[in-house]
Amino acid sequence: MMVIVAGGAGFIGSHLCEYLLERGYEVICLDNFITGREKNIRGLLDDENFKFIEMDITEPLPEIDADWIFNLASPASPPDYMAHPITTMRTGSFGTYNLLELARKRDASILFASTSEVYGDPQVHPQREDYWGNVNPVGPRSVYDEAKRFSEALTMAYKRYYGLDTRIARIFNTYGPRMRENDGRAIPNFIAQALRGEPLTVYGDGSQTRSFCHISDMIRGLYLLMESRYSEPVNIGNPNELSILELAKLIIDLTGSDSRIEFEPLPVDDPKVRMPEITRIKEAVGWEPSVGLRDGLKDTIEYFRRVIG
Ligand code: NAD
Ligand code: UDP
Repeated sequence: MMVIVAGGAGFIGSHLCEYLLERGYEVICLDNFITGREKNIRGLLDDENFKFIEMDITEPLPEIDADWIFNLASPASPPDYMAHPITTMRTGSFGTYNLLELARKRDASILFASTSEVYGDPQVHPQREDYWGNVNPVGPRSVYDEAKRFSEALTMAYKRYYGLDTRIARIFNTYGPRMRENDGRAIPNFIAQALRGEPLTVYGDGSQTRSFCHISDMIRGLYLLMESRYSEPVNIGNPNELSILELAKLIIDLTGSDSRIEFEPLPVDDPKVRMPEITRIKEAVGWEPSVGLRDGLKDTIEYFRRVIG
């Protein structure tokens, strides 16, 4: 089986490439390194079943005879997508279109990596897949949220019009080794700050909530979803909700740091709550998360200790 992983040199993508290779798949990774890194896939380059093509998915794609396509290409951290607003929208429109066209021509199954951000600043809690969301279409986060919503709509159009075999995974906050220490998301920021003895920067009063999923659970969920025939959107995430202030304190505790907490302004349109309702994926493919936050964070802190020194 030949599998394309677009965005395969990123955090989630590189773990997915590894997981697929371990199971005997041939993997072709497409990435332009806008937010990914060569070092994430360096260990895979000698594997004869792994091929890397450095390219932008908004450019014409090579005619690869793939069976499966995972579309993970997109900046994902808010500071990353706000630094590259037009590129993010091009990737989530032209890029998604190019990969759907390739899937259609090759009769491949395609999974689109969507996000909990399609729910915006949600007025329904926890978020179920049948909630349509509360997105500001012109705010600074809209370049990401609307690109993802457009990609979901385009994916469903290909399914309905061409009968393409599609999947939509709405990924909730995921963390683990290989996140960039400076990517700006809460977990890498807090761990790097704690290990360096710098203040942890909590935005707002820290009462906003998130629910964090360990990378190993996420990869298993994405794989099981692709293996299934389930084409409605599904949330994948760990419903273990906590406030960002609690997260900062937990990371100080687990790192044994004497860093203090510093409060900074809350970014515009920052969602106040977020927690996935996961009945759908449990029923569709039998998936549920198995790694608790304390254990998952310990593993991630070990990685950052090695990287930061
Ligand atoms: P990441 O930034 O580490 O990885 C994204 C990868 O896509 C990078 O390697 C980047 O270089 C590549 N890329 C971006 N635009 C590209 C283009 N036009 N052509 C080729 N490659 C391109 O982010 P991640 O956390 O690994 O996220 C992966 C996917 O999962 C993204 O689509 C993201 O929106 C989605 N997602 C992630 C999370 C999370 O918590 N990590 C949450 C929700 C959704
Ligand atoms: N956040 C924070 N300090 C940081 C980075 C992020 O308080 O240094 C907050 C951010 O405002 C949000 C939450 O932590 O409320 C999660 O942010 P992240 O960027 O990880 O992901 P998001 O869920 O916003 O996409």
